[in-house]
Amino acid sequence: AGADIAVIGLAVMGQNLVLNMAEKGFRVAIYNRTVERVDETLVAAGPLADKLVPCHSIVELVAALEPPRTVLLMVKAGTAVDESIAQLKPHLSPGDCIIDAGNADYHDSMRRDAALKADGLDFLGVGVSGGEEGARHGPSIMAGGAPKAFERIGPLLTAIAARYEGTPCAAYLGPAGAGHFVKTLHNGIEYADMEMIAEIYGLMRDGLGLKPAAMAEIFERWTKGPLASYLIEITAQALRTTDPATGRPIVDVILDSAGQKGTGRWSAIEALDLGVAAGAIVAAVEARGLSSAKALRAAVSKTLGDAPRERIGEATPELIADLEKTLLAGKILAYAQGFEVMATASARSGWTLPLDEIARIWRAGCIIRSSLLDRIAGAYAKDAGLASLLLDEGFAAILADALPAMQRVLGLAIGKGHAAPSLAAGLSYLQQLRSHRTTLDLVQAQRDIFGAHGFERIDQPGTHHGPWGGTAG
Ligand code: NDP
Repeated sequence: AGADIAVIGLAVMGQNLVLNMAEKGFRVAIYNRTVERVDETLVAAGPLADKLVPCHSIVELVAALEPPRTVLLMVKAGTAVDESIAQLKPHLSPGDCIIDAGNADYHDSMRRDAALKADGLDFLGVGVSGGEEGARHGPSIMAGGAPKAFERIGPLLTAIAARYEGTPCAAYLGPAGAGHFVKTLHNGIEYADMEMIAEIYGLMRDGLGLKPAAMAEIFERWTKGPLASYLIEITAQALRTTDPATGRPIVDVILDSAGQKGTGRWSAIEALDLGVAAGAIVAAVEARGLSSAKALRAAVSKTLGDAPRERIGEATPELIADLEKTLLAGKILAYAQGFEVMATASARSGWTLPLDEIARIWRAGCIIRSSLLDRIAGAYAKDAGLASLLLDEGFAAILADALPAMQRVLGLAIGKGHAAPSLAAGLSYLQQLRSHRTTLDLVQAQRDIFGAHGFERIDQPGTHHGPWGGTAG
C-alpha cells in the first residue's frame, strides 16, 4: 500500500506519464494488460524505478493504493477503456476515482461518468496533449469531471504538467466531457495548423521549385517571427533531415498518405452539429482522407491528368513574406473557428468553458503551442464573451495587414493549379463573415419556389412568398 496513484496502460503515453510522475516525487503503481510491459517500464525507469510499484494484476494494483484511490487509464481509446473500467470497478470503493487520460470521445466520458456516479465512484475525463515528449517532461492537461476529484488529484496533474513561464498548463475545465471535448477541439485545430503548413510547403516546393533545405531555412526564420511555434520548428526539422537509406531529403521518400485516429473528424462533426462554420478544420480532415485514397487519386489523375501545379513565381523576399502572412492569417482563422465551436458548445451545454484558460494551458506542452496562444489568452481575458476572435482589435489588425497577401497567394495558387483547401476555406469563411450582402438571397428564392419556405424582405417586415406563378410545391 501507499502509492499516490495507479496507472493502467504502459504504451508510449502511459509509460512516459509514469516516469514524469515518478520524477516529480510521486509513488506510482503500474499495470498493463500485457504484463511484460510492467517489467519493461521498470527497466526504462532506471533510477526512478524505486518510485514505482510494479503490479501484475488489477487486484495487486488496487491493493497498492490507500482509499480514496486514484487509477489513471492510459489505454487505447474506445472499448479498451470500458473493459478496463469493468475489470477495475469490482475492486474499488465509493469515493475512489478513475481518470481516463486517453483521447476519448467526450460523449463516452459523459456516459462513463454517469455510470460510475451510480456506484459512488468519481470520474475525470482528462485530455493530455504533447505526445511522447510531452507525457515525459510535461504535457498540457485538460480535465473535466467531478470537482471534488479534481481538488484531490489536481496537485498531481499540475505537478506533472508543462509550464509556460512558470504557470502550469493544467486546468479543470468543467463537468465530465468538458476536458475531452476541449482536447478534441485542440486536435481539430492541430489538424488545420498542420495542413496549412503543408499547403504552404506545397506552394514552396511545387510553385517556387524550392528544395527541402531551402524551405527548412525559411521555416527556421519563421520560428522567430509571428508564426513562432512547435509545429513550425518540427517542419524545419523534417525538411532538414536526410534519409539514411537513400541520402535523399526524408520528405521526398515519405508516402503522402496521412493517418488519423478520429479526434480531427470529431471536431468537424461537432462543428457541423453545432452549426458553427469550421471549414478550415473540416478541409484539413478531408485532406487527410483524400491523401489516403491513393488508388482513387491515381485513377483520377490518369483520367484528367496530374494537377498542373505550375510555378507561381520566384522565391523573392516579397513572395516569401506573402506566404508567411498567408499562413499567419490562415492560422488565426482556424483558431477563430475552433474557439467559436468551443464557445458555442459551452453555451449550449452550460459548461462555461474558460476560453482564456484553455488558450493559457495550450501555450506549452502541447503540439499546437505557439506565441499566438498567448495573444488568444489575452483576447479572452479582456472579454470572456468575445463572439469571435476576429472581433478582437489585435487580431483584426493582424488580419487586415495579412489579408491582401493571403488573397494574392491563394489567387496564384488556384490560378496555377495548386490545392490549398484549408487556407482557401479559411479565406472564404472570412470573406463571407465580412460581407454585408452574401448571395444567399438567391437560395431563399430557390427554397421558396420549390418548398414554399417563404423569405424575409429587406424593406418590409414579415414572411413573404415570391410571384412564382404557382410553381411552388
Ligand atoms: P495506444 O493507443 O497504442 O494503446 C496501447 C495501450 O492500450 C497498451 O497499454 C495496451 O495494452 C492497452 N490496451 C489496448 N487494448 C486494451 C484492452 N482491451 N484492455 C486493456 N488494455 C488495452 O497507446 P498510446 O500510449 O499511444 O496512447 C494511449 C492513449 O493516449 C490513447 O487514448 C491515445 O489516443 C492517447 N494519446 C496518444 C498520444 C500519442 O502521441 N501517442 C498523444 C495524446 C493522447 P497491451 O500492451 O496489452 O496491448
